[in-house]
Amino acid sequence: MPLLEELNRRIDDKTSDLVGLTVDLIRIPTINPPGDAYTPCAEFIGRRLLSRGFQVEYVRAHDTPGDSDRFPRTNIIARREGRAPGKTVHFNSHIDVVEAGDGWTLDPFGGDVRDGKIYGRGSCDMKGGLAASIIAAEAYIEAYPDFFGAIEISGTVDEESGGFGGVAHLASKGYFSRPRVDHVIIPEPLNKDRICLGHRGVWWAEIETFGKQAHGSMPFLGDCAVRHMGSVLSAFEDELYPQLAQKRTEMPVVPEGAKQSTMNINSFHGGEGEPGTHGKPLDYSGLPSPNVPDSCRMVIDRRFLIEEDLGTVKGEVVGILESLKSSRENFNYAITDLMEVLPTMTDKDAPVVKAVSDGISEVLGRQPDLVISPGTYDQKHIARIGHLHDCIAYGPGILDLAHMADEYVGIEDMVQSAKVMSYAIHALLTEGRA
Ligand SMILES: [Zn+2]
Repeated sequence: MPLLEELNRRIDDKTSDLVGLTVDLIRIPTINPPGDAYTPCAEFIGRRLLSRGFQVEYVRAHDTPGDSDRFPRTNIIARREGRAPGKTVHFNSHIDVVEAGDGWTLDPFGGDVRDGKIYGRGSCDMKGGLAASIIAAEAYIEAYPDFFGAIEISGTVDEESGGFGGVAHLASKGYFSRPRVDHVIIPEPLNKDRICLGHRGVWWAEIETFGKQAHGSMPFLGDCAVRHMGSVLSAFEDELYPQLAQKRTEMPVVPEGAKQSTMNINSFHGGEGEPGTHGKPLDYSGLPSPNVPDSCRMVIDRRFLIEEDLGTVKGEVVGILESLKSSRENFNYAITDLMEVLPTMTDKDAPVVKAVSDGISEVLGRQPDLVISPGTYDQKHIARIGHLHDCIAYGPGILDLAHMADEYVGIEDMVQSAKVMSYAIHALLTEGRA
């Protein structure tokens, strides 16, 4: 169709603009934690979209984790109304990036462009996707100024730390619900030919075992909390892990290893504090003192499947702890929930899935893979708080490069994704219209 050719041509013509925009975004070091430079980044996006006829709003998430006058949680939401009312397509990107870490051969916040790639922290996850969605929307509006409905673009904070000051906050204010919004695309780096329908569930909990302090030379006078925790670990190895390996999902999770229930042990602390904890100076290098520990704590990170329910997931762990309580002398424990997120999976026949699939087959000449992410992202808040289920993740970039040294995004990938996105805007805004 001529419109598609028109969109393709406009996006090709905007390639250097797309590269420049991505580089400018990378150069704003929005590192989380602590949540640096959120306001200048939001304002940079806002100024650009304001000049393209969008209405721009800044929403600070007061009193959410990390928010302070020094590190304000500033989100930007931009909306461009069409000629007449209709559906709204929303592109949501997080503007925060994780710390650069070691191992870079280039400046992580320099935005170097070489060999068809843009390097920098956040290039792939996910400033390249944000820039692609902005270019897609701008190209669409230029090609089709009399469109029906509305296009929204948001830049939100704190995705890397749970999204509480970002999408969760906005969703609680109605920004991600009908009738304001109908379709949401999150340009996370899932590769240009894959559509991510959702993610597995998460349960984080802290388990503590208790003991009794005594001098380390006479441990029989005390009761070692670390040994009690050791019995929890061996029960996990003997009973829980084999059980988890048996649980397979019908969800199309990638990579293959995540098609089953999994559990990581995030941390394990018992006894005397390490340097930097429990009042010990960071540079303490002396010997520990001989104490029998009276407390041991472990944080577990259990990822579960859409076929499982959270009650059963928790019950498996609590069941192990309870049976140790009845079989092991003086065993006592406490368990505290730290976070829970239910699995979510958008229907593969949902309008946004169809629109982006058609875009991928038009632009790339092949059918997309429909996948599920092993970990969660902001879609959880859109589903659970916004009650909006026509939502996917789709964007340029190779997922494995996210959070690594020398992270990059391919320019050709961004151009092709922008074409897919503009095609999807058209399909979603004209759906059902003659
Ligand atoms: Zn991301």
